[in-house]
Amino acid sequence: MRSRPPKHPQPCHARPTRVRFGGIPARHGFRFELSGGRPCLDFVNTLDERLTDRPVERLRQFGDLVSWAAQTQAISRQEVAMLRRYGLNRPRAAQAALRRATMVREAIFAVCSAASQRRNIAGPALAALAESVSRAARRRHIQRRGNRFAWGWQPMTRVDPDLILMRAAWSAADLLTSPAADRIRQCAGPGCAWLFLDTSKNRSRRWCDMTVCGNRIKARRFYAKRKRSCAAAYR
Ligand SMILES: [Zn+2]
Repeated sequence: MRSRPPKHPQPCHARPTRVRFGGIPARHGFRFELSGGRPCLDFVNTLDERLTDRPVERLRQFGDLVSWAAQTQAISRQEVAMLRRYGLNRPRAAQAALRRATMVREAIFAVCSAASQRRNIAGPALAALAESVSRAARRRHIQRRGNRFAWGWQPMTRVDPDLILMRAAWSAADLLTSPAADRIRQCAGPGCAWLFLDTSKNRSRRWCDMTVCGNRIKARRFYAKRKRSCAAAYR
């Protein structure tokens, strides 16, 4: 859960403060806010305040990445345990895997953000995403579920530290090739740029979270008005 804006009025000269603190500390790393509507969008949103001069990174350690995957259930419990052990036993290799994961995250952001705004998609970002999707595709297999067939994942038998990035990349490819791609939106909150799926009836959702970015805009307007009236009082 993210913190809510202060209820009490601030002095009229106060600037609206940023109120999002990402996740709350949990036993292993953070708990993440999952408001994106798809794993790939929640993955993108692990970088907070993206468009400000001080972006806030929520994936600082490999363990944070594993926590994200555990919370979103992107991988199985057994895979979570295997990757946690890997992070403890091979910390440098795990940090390198984290860097690869955040690079793929940025590629997903570039592609999905451009798609949401009907902009041209940068070739290198699409190529980076495509490469991870191809790797992920090799892990897909067909499964029988009751009377039906479905796509599934081959369980990880030997540790692959890139497992999570592949799942996120696959989720992005799945979304981008579906009709839901038209509903990808980028939050209009100042500096936010979180991505989400707009499932509202009239497709009018503008904020990642009304209680954070929506209120932030309201607060800005409120303080700008107060500031103007304060200035007028001293004239
Ligand atoms: Zn936002």
